[in-house]
Amino acid sequence: MIHIGPHVSSQGSVSFAPLRAKELGATGFALFTKNQRQWKSPELKEDDVSDFKKNISDLGYEPRFILPHAGYLINPASPDKEMSEKSFNLFLDEGTRVIRLELETINIHPGAYKEGSVEDGIKRCSIMVDRVLDEVPGLKIALENTAGAGTIIGSRFEELDAILSGIRNKDRVGFTLDTAHLFGAGYDVKEDPDGVLDSFFSRFGEEKLLGMHLNDSKVPLSSNKDRHESIGLGLIGKEAFLTIVRRREVRNIPLILETPDESRWKEEINELLGTAER
Ligand SMILES: [Zn+2]
Ligand SMILES: [Zn+2]
Repeated sequence: MIHIGPHVSSQGSVSFAPLRAKELGATGFALFTKNQRQWKSPELKEDDVSDFKKNISDLGYEPRFILPHAGYLINPASPDKEMSEKSFNLFLDEGTRVIRLELETINIHPGAYKEGSVEDGIKRCSIMVDRVLDEVPGLKIALENTAGAGTIIGSRFEELDAILSGIRNKDRVGFTLDTAHLFGAGYDVKEDPDGVLDSFFSRFGEEKLLGMHLNDSKVPLSSNKDRHESIGLGLIGKEAFLTIVRRREVRNIPLILETPDESRWKEEINELLGTAER
């Protein structure tokens, strides 16, 4: 079986997220544990935490197939001192929430270097990842590949590798591969999904793939843009996703749909689940 589901809303309470996932037939899911576009959010309430834990256990979700996504304001590669400290504090808060919810891994974008050299941005990202891991025992971090617009780092496997190389706590860090971002960055998951995954595995090993975001793309190969589309309606096309979910290496990681049309989620889950089981 594969563990697949959408990035569901935690509107109202994080404890509602597993209920929303279950309604869609999801076998895994993603969520935000706080408002993803604000610097300050109230702490998680004890009741919400215990209800979340009860709901995932009652509904049969394993924590390792739930992949929370960190907020968009965090820039681990920022050259600006103040921005960097704000990012660190928010990243730390995100990591702490994940552990309170008894989950394992936080998914985060590596950030943008803004000015100066890409190498310095990569260094800053590695340092921040270590700072957070040092402060939050038990946490794992999944760095998400990007489409590479502007000064955003992490669009090439070489860059992801360089970030990992600069991290001390290597055993607690891996990657999430987002198919739309891969495509935007020039990895042709439409023509050769197996080849793209194989080149990731040969560089990093299977154990470094901590999750995948399965999104079709509204924008062309190598556009360096990031615009998600529903599975089969974009420029990647359905066949690639059917190939990916049949791979043995994706059976034990969360596969997350960040596709834009919620009304298609149930169908997307069904089809990919059914394909993987055949
Ligand atoms: Zn993301
Ligand atoms: Zn993503």
